[in-house]
Amino acid sequence: MQPPSTIPADRPLAIFCDFDGTFSVQDVGSTLAQQRLPEKRARLWTRFEQGELTAWTYAVALLDGLELSEKELDEFLHTIELDAGARALLEWCETRGVPFRILSDGFDWNLERLQSIHRVHFDFMANHLEYEGDVWRISPGRPNPACGCGTGSCKRGIISAYRAANPGAFCVHIGNGRVSDLCGALEADLAFAKDTLAPALAQAGEPFVAFETLRDVVAFLSERAVTSAGGARGGPAR
Ligand SMILES: [Mg+2]
Ligand SMILES: [Zn+2]
Repeated sequence: MQPPSTIPADRPLAIFCDFDGTFSVQDVGSTLAQQRLPEKRARLWTRFEQGELTAWTYAVALLDGLELSEKELDEFLHTIELDAGARALLEWCETRGVPFRILSDGFDWNLERLQSIHRVHFDFMANHLEYEGDVWRISPGRPNPACGCGTGSCKRGIISAYRAANPGAFCVHIGNGRVSDLCGALEADLAFAKDTLAPALAQAGEPFVAFETLRDVVAFLSERAVTSAGGARGGPAR
């Protein structure tokens, strides 16, 4: 199946974007776990793949109770880079008045710090992290038992709630992960996919636009979305 070649002019556009490995180069949680808890991570990942853990119970087993001072976390977060097209995507949306939101199965604390480190601003929905001394305490942002994803922040639930509040919205989802992005990609009107998300969508026979960096997404949107109702303000720079 082919993805839609145009974005309907009469439907306001809204863009939802995964953070880890999509808006950022590295995945914050899994890079941290690889560095700090490699054996525990491998053990729990096996249990996750065997279906003993959901995405969220895996995250709790791995990260709740993690001892990592705020200072150490901050040093680690300084090693996380943004995708080459991240700023261009924010700017594209801002210039055109298109709502943009990061949907993350990671943590609010880290997203706040990363915005400040990289001097960018975006709306987001994510799971919650707070500190108890030097210890991580995590809780889910918006779980959705009706969805099979098992994540702490179900992207299908968030996008369908957005659609209910904004009837007629044309929802775009951009992501890279089979576990946390598949339900959001299926719920969206147009999905951009890479890494494990792309083969998962292909296998399901679902249309998607393949991308490598968010620069590709901006190029696609600039070509196809010039007539979008949400985006009539100013055309793409040529
Ligand atoms: Mg991701
Ligand atoms: Zn879901």
